Amino acid sequence: MRVGIDVGGTTVKIGFVDDYKIIYRLVVETKKDTLFDDVFKAVKCFIEEKNIKISEIGFGLPGHVSGTYIDKLPNIGIYDLDIKPIANKYFPNINIYTTNDANAAALGELLNDKDNVKSAYMITLGTGVGGGLVIDSKVVNGYHSNCGEIGHIYIDFNHNYQCTCGLKGCLETVASATGIVRLANDYYDQFKTSIDRNNMSAKTILDAAKKNDELGLFILNYVSESLGRAIATIELSVDVERIYIGGGVSDAGDILINKIKEYYKNYSHYAIKDLEITKAKLGNDAGMLGAAYLY
Ligand SMILES: [Zn+2]
Repeated sequence: MRVGIDVGGTTVKIGFVDDYKIIYRLVVETKKDTLFDDVFKAVKCFIEEKNIKISEIGFGLPGHVSGTYIDKLPNIGIYDLDIKPIANKYFPNINIYTTNDANAAALGELLNDKDNVKSAYMITLGTGVGGGLVIDSKVVNGYHSNCGEIGHIYIDFNHNYQCTCGLKGCLETVASATGIVRLANDYYDQFKTSIDRNNMSAKTILDAAKKNDELGLFILNYVSESLGRAIATIELSVDVERIYIGGGVSDAGDILINKIKEYYKNYSHYAIKDLEITKAKLGNDAGMLGAAYLY
């Protein structure tokens, strides 16, 4: 059995995986000072209790990692830490792997895909916009461990909104949940709309688009065009078989995915027009499943 661990800001999700299925799950609270000791202890206790043999432990981590060395996990407050010596205290003979959480999720979606897909790119539309790349069923971390940081490509020349990363006009400033609300606020007075301005979220805006609300449709189109253009650029660089769209915003479903496809076709080179763009299916399990197969 393999162990795939998805480290989040408040909880750590631990999955015990066999034959690409999560068989057992554990959840541990994220505590900055003892995180990895807590996790390894929990895994050790569990496998002893259940008499399970494990072959590897993989982590999807929210930040920059390289090998077993963590450069930074800014949301948790962990910097400059090698987890190998901590792992050795509990598991001296087991391989430990790490990657960025978005990469782990991308691999998880690919492994769950029934079509035997070998290369894919996953875009996560949440509070921010993240991405992960898998080629030949292996995650690509990149030289700066920054591969897949699609949220920060310069895509929105129209507004040049300030991004949290310090740049302006990043994809994230218009295609994340927060970006969508900001756009709707800025265009609120220019369209007829039934969206409650004091209660706006990406969900209420995209739900309104489903009912042909003018503002909702304008935002849907704007966001989809930004993503379609971004994906056309990604695909010419990496030429993967499939794009998965995940994260809370993707729960809007077909209306969003179909619009993104429409714009992708407008912006893509003729040789890559048949790229498949689909909604991610695994939700929160993707990170655990992918982390278990990082070898
Ligand atoms: Zn940015």
